[in-house]
Amino acid sequence: MSLVRLSATELLAQLTAGQITSVHLTEAYLGQIKRHDPQVKAFLRVDTQRALDRAAEIDKRRREGRPLGRLAGLPVAIKDLLCTQGEPTTCASRILENFKPPYDATVIARLKAADAVLIGKTNMDEFAMGGSTENSAFQKTANPWDLERIPGGSSGGSAACVAAGMAPMSVGSDTGGSIRQPAGLCGVTGLKPTYGRVSRYGLVAFASSLDQIGPLARTAEDTALLLEVLAGHDPLDSTSVDLPVPKYSATVKQPLKNLRLGLVREHFGEGLDGEVEAAVRQAVAVYESLGATIKDISLPHGKYGVATYYIIAPCEASSNLARYDGVHYGHRTDEKKMAAAIAAQRSTLEAAGKHVEAEALDNPLVRMYRQSRAEGFGPEVKRRIMLGTYALSAGYYDAYYLKALKVRRLIRRDYDQAFGQVDLIAGPVTATTAFKLGEKVDDPLAMYLVDLYTVSANLAGIGGIAFPCGFSEGGLPIGLQLQAPPFEEERLLRAACMFQRATDWHQRWPSMVPA
Ligand code: GLN
Repeated sequence: MSLVRLSATELLAQLTAGQITSVHLTEAYLGQIKRHDPQVKAFLRVDTQRALDRAAEIDKRRREGRPLGRLAGLPVAIKDLLCTQGEPTTCASRILENFKPPYDATVIARLKAADAVLIGKTNMDEFAMGGSTENSAFQKTANPWDLERIPGGSSGGSAACVAAGMAPMSVGSDTGGSIRQPAGLCGVTGLKPTYGRVSRYGLVAFASSLDQIGPLARTAEDTALLLEVLAGHDPLDSTSVDLPVPKYSATVKQPLKNLRLGLVREHFGEGLDGEVEAAVRQAVAVYESLGATIKDISLPHGKYGVATYYIIAPCEASSNLARYDGVHYGHRTDEKKMAAAIAAQRSTLEAAGKHVEAEALDNPLVRMYRQSRAEGFGPEVKRRIMLGTYALSAGYYDAYYLKALKVRRLIRRDYDQAFGQVDLIAGPVTATTAFKLGEKVDDPLAMYLVDLYTVSANLAGIGGIAFPCGFSEGGLPIGLQLQAPPFEEERLLRAACMFQRATDWHQRWPSMVPA
């Protein structure tokens, strides 16, 4: 079997046994990237030479019998919103096109300490705002199962590269579904940890009360391994929780006994595609055959999840993104362009007979802010900033932001009640399989509705996992989502692993991956 088809766990065993070298393995992934990434476009940057140098160094250390980290020699791909010291970190935005952070994110430092080989930075929706990776300022990533379709998003590059055999594992972030949704649409395993489980120091912030970093991989076992490296308290992130990190990889293969699985009544309503529903129900039947009991439950406020999320996330984004002002760092407009833009703006305003705010137009600082941001941000990011600024403004704050916070509380309470009756909640990740590139780009509301099944976990701060549970007639992956009470990642991983040991959906590959 081709090396790129082996799981990270199998590869580590071969590396440790000296059957393969990290250089050889890294070359295999780089080869797959070279052949197929021109079509898939999962990577914004591939660190060919540095990855090979690092692999060689790890091989040398192994030969010399020196101590090695947990992921020694294993390539890992990184979503391009995690700060990598001295290396571009763009968030797929023009505004950060030339940004080189002076420090590593904590998860990057942990991966380096674990001797992983960082192979490249993956494409995403600009600032993680989106669900199709079409909002990247640089390129559109395709779904390896069908190049005319979206890979999901916003961690679309991270999911696509794992699905396409270009990396055994990757790191993504999930604010409203951005790990689980692309994992589901690309047929890989992705876990959104509980809020606080993984340090976000060095994660470029989108919506700080929702953002979490998490692993994507081929199997639950590999996901457990990567989460073990990423998770843990970090004094540099005050929202990271000081709780011991369980040995996920040691327990992942233990099946859960007497598992009580909740099926949310409201998840099986209007809009859910028939093939997706059938696959999810079959997956639930697999759990039943493994001894689980199935309970019908209700999350009555879940229907307000999307509306609540699309108030809270833009509010936080409008505040977080205020820092891109062309002064501290990031894109700054050049003087000539700025003068031309002001002249154009003035004449448009005058032609429309509108009052020209002379001071705002003429104040060089305000002018520079405006023009830098106008040039640097893409349309979806601007839309979110405007939505958030509006919802936070005097007179609207109570009606939108405050109300959304109250509904958020109710959503969390629904989960607390549900988890009094069941151990895990099972359901779809998305209502449909991957849609066509371009299909929803002009319809933001339709894009937002794709997040129906994923945003509630972020609003409640709980963890969730997505993994393949079937394929459509057209050959597209269908994902199953499991959600757990706070800090029960181990339960999620064991449940996913138990399913993967009974099925082989996770072992299917798109045709671009050599047998
Ligand atoms: N699709 C959602 C959004 O556009 C979620 C994105 C995310 O999780 N980063 O905001």
